[in-house]
Amino acid sequence: MVVAYHPSTATTPSPHVESNPYSVALAQYDRAVRYLNLKENTIEFLRYPHREFTVNFPVVRDNGKLEMFTGYRVHHSTVLGPSKGGIRYSLAVTLDEIRALAMWMTWKCALAGIPYGGAKGGVVVDPKSLSARELEALTRRYAAELIPLIGPNSDIPAPDMGTNAQVMAWIMDTYSMTVGYSVPAVVTGKPLNIGGSLGRSEATGRSVITCMIEALKRQNMNHPDDVSIAIQGFGNVGSNAAHYAHSLGYKVVAVSDVFGGVYNPHGLDVPALQRYTTETGSVVGFREADSITNDQLLTLSCDVLIPAAMEGQLTEENAPYIRAQIVVEGANGPTTPEADDILNDRGVLIVPDVLANAGGVVVSYFEWVQDLQAFFWDEEDIYKRLEKQMQHSYRATENTAEEHGVDMRTAAQMLAIRRVADAFETRGVYP
Ligand code: GLU
Repeated sequence: MVVAYHPSTATTPSPHVESNPYSVALAQYDRAVRYLNLKENTIEFLRYPHREFTVNFPVVRDNGKLEMFTGYRVHHSTVLGPSKGGIRYSLAVTLDEIRALAMWMTWKCALAGIPYGGAKGGVVVDPKSLSARELEALTRRYAAELIPLIGPNSDIPAPDMGTNAQVMAWIMDTYSMTVGYSVPAVVTGKPLNIGGSLGRSEATGRSVITCMIEALKRQNMNHPDDVSIAIQGFGNVGSNAAHYAHSLGYKVVAVSDVFGGVYNPHGLDVPALQRYTTETGSVVGFREADSITNDQLLTLSCDVLIPAAMEGQLTEENAPYIRAQIVVEGANGPTTPEADDILNDRGVLIVPDVLANAGGVVVSYFEWVQDLQAFFWDEEDIYKRLEKQMQHSYRATENTAEEHGVDMRTAAQMLAIRRVADAFETRGVYP
């Protein structure tokens, strides 16, 4: 198998420590294991990504010129089952970023109680710079390079930043053509007509809002129209969170994307905003709202802040100025450990990524189960199971936080790490 593994570098992130997501993931891990009475051997084992794959591959552009691209796939853990996690297309992709995201997937799946390990993949590319034909060619070649790694029983990709259901369809087709028969369960987040699941594209945004509602209950904020929400990011997670919150009567006062943001203290008309962004490609310029910057959005006066864009957004610099009482992490890794400390000291409740945005992978699990059984569920069933699962994870995390006197992130990681550690110890070390 063509799998590169670099034990000498795997626990030593590259420089630029503050902005390196892998340093953040390892710092969070080290913090959580301090509260767990785990064996030294187990702590050492879980710190390492299991496998790391790097590939440089060619794509012939529309102008006839060959261009080389770099892609990664990291399996952090396969202890609890096949590895699971998205594929992102972004110019910001690095091996350390993919390592961090793979580790977070391990904790996310373990916390949600679904039988998967954690993985992540990525290609260093701006997907908007490619034509439709080039995007398909890049996807199919990357998928072909991943054939030794992926499979319905080994490693199951899904969408992430810069990828979508169509990209998953091309991966599913490339895999299926190689093995000679159709294998819908090799990816999740597929279009419905080839074995996708109802509710999958809405799932992550919904789980963020379900967790927000649980957090608001604790603060006795039970009237949706009294609650103002600011959302950074208007991609799959941000827009679905905004849509669901708005449909439940919450006031979404601000949203942003890479180009900038819009703010209306009385609440934005989210369905109209979604139509506007579909037409124009951005939230910028939406009527009946003031324009704001991404930095301004983070420090707006509001009750709930939902960072749903990228890693490293809440930092030592802006954390002292964040005015929301509750932060619900739609993105993976949006808060640095320094910002965590500042916000925790200030009494801001942070509902961590591995808990709040788990809805995506939970419904991915439902999709995989439906594919394997070739038996499909209705939307009501899916949303009901998702909500129940999220409420259960929220309460378990909250109980652990109270019991040990720790913040919700540390509690979520403690629960997840404990489950993977127990399974590792039960299985033992091969050979
Ligand atoms: N990319 C999503 C995440 O970060 C979903 C992963 C999946 O469904 O496998 O959780």
